[in-house]
Amino acid sequence: MTMRDEERQLREKLLTAVKLLEDKGFNHASTGNLSCRDGDEILITPTGGNSGNLTPGRIVRLTRGGKVVGEGIPSSEWHMHTAILGAFPHANAVVHTHADACVALSCLRRPIPAFHYMVAGFGGVEIRCARYATFGTADLATSAVEALQGRTACLLANHGMIAMGKSLDAALAATIKLETLARQYLLALSAGEPVLIDEEEMSRVGARYGNYGVGILPG
Ligand SMILES: [Zn+2]
Repeated sequence: MTMRDEERQLREKLLTAVKLLEDKGFNHASTGNLSCRDGDEILITPTGGNSGNLTPGRIVRLTRGGKVVGEGIPSSEWHMHTAILGAFPHANAVVHTHADACVALSCLRRPIPAFHYMVAGFGGVEIRCARYATFGTADLATSAVEALQGRTACLLANHGMIAMGKSLDAALAATIKLETLARQYLLALSAGEPVLIDEEEMSRVGARYGNYGVGILPG
């Protein structure tokens, strides 16, 4: 397979992922954005991109420092995408959405605690909420990278969520799982005070997931 075929395939995959997020109701009016590594550079959805207006050619290529290669205007959150792919070498894809339950919880500015064992699947005893910073800024990128240490996803205060994975499919799966957990946590909170799983049990669960506190496994 030539490099060109690989790139075309990645661009098509990003389009399919945009459609998937829309079908799930996670991407309200182009608020979601996605990126993946392509060699030393990054492919990212353009600003205002949605399944109605996207074509493989409209996906934007960036250097790791965030400079556009060729043409197009990248998603306004390109700082977050390039910073995360720069900080976590084992991550190859990043998904950012304003999915409803994640947004609702992010407004509490609290982590999602170990109310369900699947929280350990994100790399630790809780899924953090990154401190608030203005959208589209390098400061928000720094905040997200901090909250993602040893994790595969986090909430973004008063904003939404971001997830990363070894592949686009892995980052999408983390996104869907996180939104599901966020919805279930809200349900539990609405019914009472959830009983949390203790740290010892969460580390057993983490070991079963193969995390060992790393978040994303190498390879
Ligand atoms: Zn956003």
